[in-house]
Amino acid sequence: MIDLRNLTIKKAHDHLTKGDFTVSDLIDAYLSVINEKNKDINAYIEIYNDIDDQVKIAEQMFANGTATLMTGIPIALKDNMLFEGHIASASSHMLENYKATYDSSIVKQLKNQGVVFLGRTNMDEFAMGSSTETSAYGNTKNPIDTSRVPGGSSGGSVAALAMDGALVALGSDTGGSIRQPAAFCGLVGLKPTYGAVSRYGIISMGSSLDQVGSFGKNTEDTEILFNAINDYDDKDSTSVKKEERILPKPLKKKIGVPRSFLTGDGVESDIIKNFEENCKRLEKAGYEIVDISLPLIKYSLAVYYIISPAEVSSNLARYDGIRYGLHVEADKLFDVYTKSRGKGFGREVRRRILLGTYILSHGYYDAYYNKAIKVRNAIKQEFEKAFLEVDAIITPTSPFMPFKFGEKLEDPVGMYLSDLFSVPANIAGIPAMSLPSGKNDIGLPFSLHIMAPLFREDILFTIGKDFEKQV
Ligand code: GLN
Repeated sequence: MIDLRNLTIKKAHDHLTKGDFTVSDLIDAYLSVINEKNKDINAYIEIYNDIDDQVKIAEQMFANGTATLMTGIPIALKDNMLFEGHIASASSHMLENYKATYDSSIVKQLKNQGVVFLGRTNMDEFAMGSSTETSAYGNTKNPIDTSRVPGGSSGGSVAALAMDGALVALGSDTGGSIRQPAAFCGLVGLKPTYGAVSRYGIISMGSSLDQVGSFGKNTEDTEILFNAINDYDDKDSTSVKKEERILPKPLKKKIGVPRSFLTGDGVESDIIKNFEENCKRLEKAGYEIVDISLPLIKYSLAVYYIISPAEVSSNLARYDGIRYGLHVEADKLFDVYTKSRGKGFGREVRRRILLGTYILSHGYYDAYYNKAIKVRNAIKQEFEKAFLEVDAIITPTSPFMPFKFGEKLEDPVGMYLSDLFSVPANIAGIPAMSLPSGKNDIGLPFSLHIMAPLFREDILFTIGKDFEKQV
């Protein structure tokens, strides 16, 4: 029996290299867990039918000495990532039969390293949501407490990992969709710098915010998977060339706390208590914790809920019932559009499209969109200035603990508050990571959120590893 709970990438690689078990044994172990648990958890909406072929390729790489750290590692893929020949639906009826005709760049990179893709995971429809409840394919349960949501939008990916149905997982993060579910399921989740990982072949949500990132049970695995996909890609116009990325500077070992931002409405007191303990843990690990003032970041959520629906309404205009996805027949062309879109999209997606269309409409564009862009630039500058003084900035990841199904579904603004601490990093494009930081009385996980300057993921990993030793 392979101890999947305590398995890491390095340990798996060691065993595979020594021949303690084969790639096929490893994958079978994960598939049997999936077989047992997925019916209840609903982390995966499809297990791929070509796993055997992928396993053969990985085993060949071990046999001929070309294996890397990622070879044979089983991974869960979010349902918005294109994998040639397989359905990628963004968990929407709109794309339920859409088969990818090419590989996304991240899938291609990982294929070259002999990774084994186990299946595609459930998500909030088109990545809009914080609970995975907006999926067209039913709820995903939080493996820690199945009466609660796993977070979202990458809820299936984290649940797959938390139930030992994959060793690592991939997600996308537009406003917190990697970090918040990682927090809800007691895992590590990284949103890299905007421009670090290619988005070619990822189904778009908000193009100035979307970023692909990694999940692991610890910082090391999260870092290894990030390193495997962290590359320039000329197919993605927002990808930044390696030589243009900012060079590492030595650490000051100083971390900033935006004190006044933490005490806003709706932040649970237990979470603040845990956060104070986390500050002490970091002090114990040799960091100086200082209060800093970031007066503008409190506007990040408002800015996000202007910019992201605007970009959503534009990106999702391509699903017109003709070019892509679901088609509903009607006598008039206009009715084909409205009927296809009305049937293909769920409530939350329609709400965002309406909001975005309104924001971008004549007369409101200036009042909302242009203003939000100005505030966004001011927030970016505020971060830049703060990072002259500190290596990193910390907050909790989520203002509240994992909630029960249905609790926030009829309260969109309450749901949007999930993103309070996570969106500033998307607004500024900076990297950020969520780490588990203990549990409450009923076993639900707390978490710490760390933000670093552009392209300084290394700072997140250093602090993450130091922090893990103290928890
Ligand atoms: N919860 C946020 C939203 O609904 C974030 C989504 C995401 O990061 N994809 O917009």
